[in-house]
Amino acid sequence: MFHLNDFPLPFRETDLVPYMSVETVQFHYGKHLATYIANLNKLIADTKYADMDLREIIINSARDENAQKIFNNAAQIFNHEFFFNCLGRGGNTMVPDLISDAFGGAAEFKEKFKAIANSVFGSGWVWLTHDNANGFEIIATKNADTPIAHGIKPVLTLDLWEHAYYLDFQNRRADFIDTFLESLIDWKFVVSNMNI
Ligand code: MN
Repeated sequence: MFHLNDFPLPFRETDLVPYMSVETVQFHYGKHLATYIANLNKLIADTKYADMDLREIIINSARDENAQKIFNNAAQIFNHEFFFNCLGRGGNTMVPDLISDAFGGAAEFKEKFKAIANSVFGSGWVWLTHDNANGFEIIATKNADTPIAHGIKPVLTLDLWEHAYYLDFQNRRADFIDTFLESLIDWKFVVSNMNI
């Protein structure tokens, strides 16, 4: 059994105002993430997945065509925990040198991230990933798909499902993407993921 308390928010609901409203945080965390958790608990009861940790569920269900609902809910839990941990109160808006250098500059990194995020059609996620062979890459995933199902290490993500921004930005998804890049990223968390 998984519980919402297993995935605590790393900030207070008011901390991201004016970039992300209290209402958005309350719905996104308290309703959407909570629903993925409730769904997963029901789906894994009395299955081989019941005794696995979240990462094991994701990796095993990704290869199990009879477990797509389990995969979708488990991956969404991982993706949301990761996303919420990427958010902070814009105290440090500087892109770390290690990342900006990999893209030819902070502005170039942001432009590439924006271009890929804006190209996502429908629900999905955009990720900065890292591996020792390919270095940093920016990729998009559809629906619940997640880099860890493919053995790829995420270091930053942005939720592009409509529920992530609709209360604050309505149809202006590009403004949400810009606000994320300029004011919402907790770069300390991102750097802590790099340990490379
Ligand atoms: Mn979401």
